Amino acid sequence: MTLVTDTAASETIERLDAEAVNSARTRQPLYAPRKKIFPKRATGQFRRFKWLIMLVTLGIYYLTPWLRWDRGPHAPDQAVLVDLANRRFYFFFIEIWPQEFIYVAGLLVMAGVGLFLITSTVGRAWCGYTCPQTVWVDLFLVVERAIEGDRNARIKLDGAPMSAPKLAKRFSKHLIWVVIAVATGGAWVFYFADAPTLLVDIVTGQAAPVAYMTIATLTATTYVFGGLMREQVCTYMCPWPRIQAAMLDENSLTVTYNDWRGEPRSRHAKKAAAEGKTVGDCVDCNACVAVCPMGIDIRDGQQLECITCALCIDACDGVMDKLGRERGLISYATLADYNANMALATASGTDVINPDRVRDAAGGLSDKVAHFRWQKIFRPRTFVYFGTWSLIGLVMLYALLTRDRLEVNVLHDRNPQYVVLSDGSIRNGYTVKLLNMIPEPRVIFLSLDGLPGATMQVVGLDQPEGRSAAIPVDPDRLREVRIFITLPADRLNDANAKFSFVVEDKASFESDIYRASFNRPGAAR
Ligand code: SF4
Ligand code: SF4
Repeated sequence: MTLVTDTAASETIERLDAEAVNSARTRQPLYAPRKKIFPKRATGQFRRFKWLIMLVTLGIYYLTPWLRWDRGPHAPDQAVLVDLANRRFYFFFIEIWPQEFIYVAGLLVMAGVGLFLITSTVGRAWCGYTCPQTVWVDLFLVVERAIEGDRNARIKLDGAPMSAPKLAKRFSKHLIWVVIAVATGGAWVFYFADAPTLLVDIVTGQAAPVAYMTIATLTATTYVFGGLMREQVCTYMCPWPRIQAAMLDENSLTVTYNDWRGEPRSRHAKKAAAEGKTVGDCVDCNACVAVCPMGIDIRDGQQLECITCALCIDACDGVMDKLGRERGLISYATLADYNANMALATASGTDVINPDRVRDAAGGLSDKVAHFRWQKIFRPRTFVYFGTWSLIGLVMLYALLTRDRLEVNVLHDRNPQYVVLSDGSIRNGYTVKLLNMIPEPRVIFLSLDGLPGATMQVVGLDQPEGRSAAIPVDPDRLREVRIFITLPADRLNDANAKFSFVVEDKASFESDIYRASFNRPGAAR
């Protein structure tokens, strides 16, 4: 009896239409296995621009370590060099010492703000054109196409059983990829030592183990990221696609499928039109999908995977040219323009897309269609980014042009803080560091300012005790000297404990000052 009652009661309970988002029945694996992508070769203005960028960026990367820059006999002649052994960074006429690392930090901040500026104006242009991952994948694809053919030939080859010709093609492709990867790793280490010398050392097995380890690591990462993982690096490993969304607004340019003129798409547009159906400009040829290096369909809307390489624009423009229609079915567009045109095509959202609404009587695009205007680049967000970027750049430039190439740093002896000599005079010890930051030898004059009656003796320097000394310093070096300052007993009371070490280069008129103190018995410290 109880059972019957319970069943009857349960039937009165409403079943809600709800399902857990991670229910076992529909749960997706966290990692989707890779589906192979065979991007077709694209032609057009954006492809040509990408070739140019690729040539320039690869040229800069591979050739820069081989550029020479004459800094005289006392400094390396490599134009760009990170000299780890001597802790210097050389960039053409600029030399950075470790304590000047703020310039490098400033450059990194500028690069970050510059990336914000570019992203907020032209979307992910960094990803699509200049990111090393994009450039090297492009390079690897050039090799793949040259050996295995374009998309259809590669798909056919991939599906074919292993044979001698297939093995030969695959072997050649991977061999060239490895050569490129080795060259990439090799070029990197040339930035850290004299390139011609290091090349000889590497080839003859004389280079440091760390050089071989670095080359091996970069070879492996270039080969795996550029040849094997490709788009997966952008989709799964790179944080930038997640961050960039915060920098886009409705006036940022992104690669957009203009469905307000493309839909309803039809593979048989003429037939559909003859039947009186409304058809858009998209003939559903999939050319845009075939060229996409990320393997996505831009017609599905903005996607995290889209690196805005614009190759789909080239592909679709080619199709539109053949059909005799206006280019720009896929184009760089802002969300604001897209929304305005969408409102036009859908009668402000009251109807489905009707591309006739965006066309004039002659069949061309109506004057009401919104197009991107360059003035839209100038808006508060981009002004703030550009202002910040410029300000950091100007401050850095000013600091760089007016920075001192002569410095003095002083360390007062802490134990003992002073010594009372047999005649009652007081002696203090100091370690003075003289920095000659130019690649020329210099004689630096060190003198005392203040502390009347005091004399100075430089340990190891054959010069009479006095109030100044001439100290030679090697080019581009720091010289550390021990100095004793002695104050006679009869000048103890009238002496102010504060004084300065003054360094001067009388040839270049550069100078620096370090304010120090002189310790004596009973004086407050
Ligand atoms: S959708 Fe177009 S712009 Fe985006 S990655 Fe693919 S080809 Fe490049
Ligand atoms: S290339 Fe152009 S016409 Fe062809 S499917 Fe893509 S959007 Fe449509």
